[in-house]
Parts: sequence; structure tokens; C-alpha cells
Amino acid sequence: MAKKFRVAICGGGISGLTLAVALSKYPDIQVDVYEATGQFKEIGAGVMIYARTWEILSLLGMAQDFSRIAHAPPDGSLGIGFDYRRSDKPEVGSRFYLFQMPYGCIRFHRAHFLDALVAHLPAGIAHFGKRLTSYTYIPVAQRREPQIFLQFADGSAATCDLLVGCDGIKSVIRKQLLEDHVYKQGGDPRLLEHIEPIWSGMVAYRGLIPVERLKEADGTEHRTIRSPMMYCGKSKHIVSYSISAGSIVNVVAMETNLQLYGAPWKGPWVTECSPSEIQECFKGWEPEVQEMLGCLDRATKWAIHELKPLPFYTKDRVVLVGDAAHGMTPHQGAGAGQAIEDAYILAEVLGHPNTTLASLPKALVTYERVRLPMANHVLQGSKQSGDMYEFNGPLEDNLVPLGLQIGHQWDWLWTSTPQTERNRAFELLTQQKASL
Ligand SMILES: Cc1cc2nc3c(=O)[nH]c(=O)nc-3n(C[C@H](O)[C@H](O)[C@H](O)COP(=O)(O)OP(=O)(O)OC[C@H]3O[C@@H](n4cnc5c(N)ncnc54)[C@H](O)[C@@H]3O)c2cc1C
Repeated sequence: MAKKFRVAICGGGISGLTLAVALSKYPDIQVDVYEATGQFKEIGAGVMIYARTWEILSLLGMAQDFSRIAHAPPDGSLGIGFDYRRSDKPEVGSRFYLFQMPYGCIRFHRAHFLDALVAHLPAGIAHFGKRLTSYTYIPVAQRREPQIFLQFADGSAATCDLLVGCDGIKSVIRKQLLEDHVYKQGGDPRLLEHIEPIWSGMVAYRGLIPVERLKEADGTEHRTIRSPMMYCGKSKHIVSYSISAGSIVNVVAMETNLQLYGAPWKGPWVTECSPSEIQECFKGWEPEVQEMLGCLDRATKWAIHELKPLPFYTKDRVVLVGDAAHGMTPHQGAGAGQAIEDAYILAEVLGHPNTTLASLPKALVTYERVRLPMANHVLQGSKQSGDMYEFNGPLEDNLVPLGLQIGHQWDWLWTSTPQTERNRAFELLTQQKASL
């Protein structure tokens, strides 16, 4: 079949792979995925999604595969989002809020999540060892059609009609898009503040625990095996939940120094660390926290960064998706879910019959109009959530109203569905066609 345009996806993480799978429905779009490393790879940790993201995985025909690798097959019934406890005292802590929602939070091992996407990727479209260093937009005046010239670190090159930046929070595509806009098109120099990720003042310790270690010989088991937990305390909190059919518990323990927000992070973002460092950090917390952290035998330490919310996600024929567009703190467990929503809406917009090579820039603006307000809202909300979990928000540790406010942080989950968002994008595309 003749191709209406060629799409280059730079980055083969959750956003790039979801986009490639979603675009594979459209045989008239050529897709190439350029991944910097030698293989598609995710870290050894958990990831959670909600009903909205599950709807997209289902629409893309992947529900069965993802059911098999989830903590349990999702059935839509009411489930626990998080069980919030005050835990920063040596005595037994107590619940201050139980957040429940249809489907609860659906949890996976990241490596399994990525493998399930890769299994749906059409053959022959992935190119490894292709680290994009720069791109050149060759305008229409010099050629019959404009196209984009891609330059990779290994000296090779490629061309495309549309470049999608799925290259993560340190995106080189975001950097060039903003620099070109400021230096070549006279854009507002303040846009350059959106290039470098901002250190949130927080570090996250991440580890996995085989579930057997959290069970006693008499049959009693740790609370987190059954329930996703949020252990809260002053300037620290711990998220823990089971993954991989309930065989592993994922632990993310966080510590924040608010004064360091925006300070430069020196050194690598991710390092190995000893479990004793984490245990020391949470010394004096309630017994079930000590018990859980005592079961860790390996961990990594992450410097948590976020982006200053971008005012646009696209220029000409270049567009940003996932963390490249809205890298956020992990406090609503939503970065990957938002990346998947981006990928779904962008694929639907590109695949729409009204979208042609000539109308690509306008189609990309449609994607931006639908996705940017929600993704930036979640980015900003995530930071506020982290403050609330650590009693650093306006309500401090006023636990009853704090619990209610924590519940409201999830309101965006229910304001629309991916399908209503897609319909809105289609309406915009139809209006655009009518105005031509
Ligand atoms: C502690 C923590 C917990 C989290 N928990 C959750 C959660 O529970 N739920 C959730 O929804 N989100 C969560 N997130 C966020 C989520 O992990 C990210 O939002 C998501 O993985 C982003 O996917 P991505 O594909 O956009 O970027 P990435 O995963 O960063 O992928 C980028 C890809 O691009 C490649 N690449 C980079 N540069 C180039 C280049 N120049 N050329 C070619 N390829 C390139 C990289 O090698 C990589 O494969 C969490 C994040 C953290 C830090």
C-alpha cells in the first residue's frame, strides 16, 4: 500500500513502543523506531496504571496479554488505589485515608510490560544503536515536500516526514525544538528554561522483595502483599505494592529536601545503594515499615527530576510524546499512563483520513490541544501530591482534610475517557478540514 507519510519514532521506551503498536493499525503510515541502546530494555521495578490506560491497552487489542502479566487479571471491580497510613513514629501507625476506584491500580513488572509491547511490534521497524544527535528540517522551498534529516551518533543518517520525540525526560529533540524556536524563529528566550530537567530535591530508593520473605511461618503476611500501601511521614514516604501475579513486592522509598528544589544534581541520576542506607533513612518508622525494608537485599537510588510544563508539544513536523513532553515526579504513578494516552491520541490523529502529508502540522496541533492540558495538569498535580504525602502541603499533617484532598488529586481520571478524548480530536480535525 502507498504510504501517506513516514514517521520516525526516536526512543523505544513505553511511549515509543506504544505509539509504534498503535500506528501499526494504519498500513498507509510508514513507521521506524530508532532506539539509542542495543535493545528495548526497562529497569527491574514496578509500574502501575489505572482504568484509563487499561482502556487504551484494550482498544489496542492487548488486554489479554497484559492481563497475564498484571498483579491479577483486571476485572473492573472496585479495588484499592492506595491505603494511606501515617507511619513516621516507632509505634504502630494508622490509616488516614483509603482510596478506592474501579480497577484499583493495575500493577506490572516493568520488564514484562515492555516485553508485552514488543510482542505486538511489527517486524523490521526497530533500529538499535541509533542515538539521535540532531535533526534538520529541510523546508518546502528547497524540495518538493519538506522532510526531516536525522543524524545519529554512529555517523548514520535517515529521513522522515514526521519526527516523534519519545526520547525521555533528557530529550535531545525537546532541546533542539526549543533552541531552534528561540534562536532561529525569535521565540521567547524563557522557553530555554524548559530544556533541562529540574531536580525535585527528592531521592527515591527502589527495590524488589520476593513475596515469600514477607510471609511468616504461621501464615500471617505483610499488609502490602494484598494492598498497595502509601506509608507517609514528614518529608518522606514509601510506596509499596505487589506485582508479577503477586510474587514480588515493589518498594519505592522517597526522601525530600524542599530547600533543594531546583538545585543542580551532581553525578549520575541512578546509582546502586545499600539497603542499610534506606533502613537508616526510615529508622524510627512503624514496625511494618521496618520489617519490609529489612527484606531488601539490593536497591538503587534515583534523583527524581521533573520538567517545567511546556507551553507547546509540537512545531512544524516535530512532536514530543511521554517524558520528553512532560517528564514528571512519580507521585500519582502516572508518567507512563500519560505517555500511553499521548501515544494513543497521536496515533488516532495521524491515522485519521483527514490527516495527510500536507496537513501534518495542523494535525499535530490537534494532538497538542487534546493532550497538553491534561498531561501538564498531571505533571503539576504530581508535585502537589508528593507534598501532601510528606505533610509539606498547605494542610500539613491535618490528616482528615488531607485524606479528602488526596482523594481529589485523582479527579482527572474521571473527567473524560481516552475514547471521548479521541472523539474530541476527531471533531477538531473535521473543523480544520471545513475551514480549509
Ligand atoms: C520512581 C519512579 C516510579 C514511577 N512509577 C510510575 C508508575 O507507577 N506509573 C506510571 O505511569 N509512571 C511511573 N513513572 C514514570 C514512568 O516511568 C515514565 O513516565 C515512563 O517510563 C516514560 O516513558 P518514555 O518512553 O516517555 O521515556 P523513557 O522510559 O525514558 O524512554 C526513552 C527511550 O528513548 C531512548 N533514547 C533516549 N535518548 C535517545 C536518543 N537521542 N535517540 C534515540 N533514543 C533515545 C532511551 O534509551 C529509552 O529507551 C515512574 C517514574 C519513576 C522515576
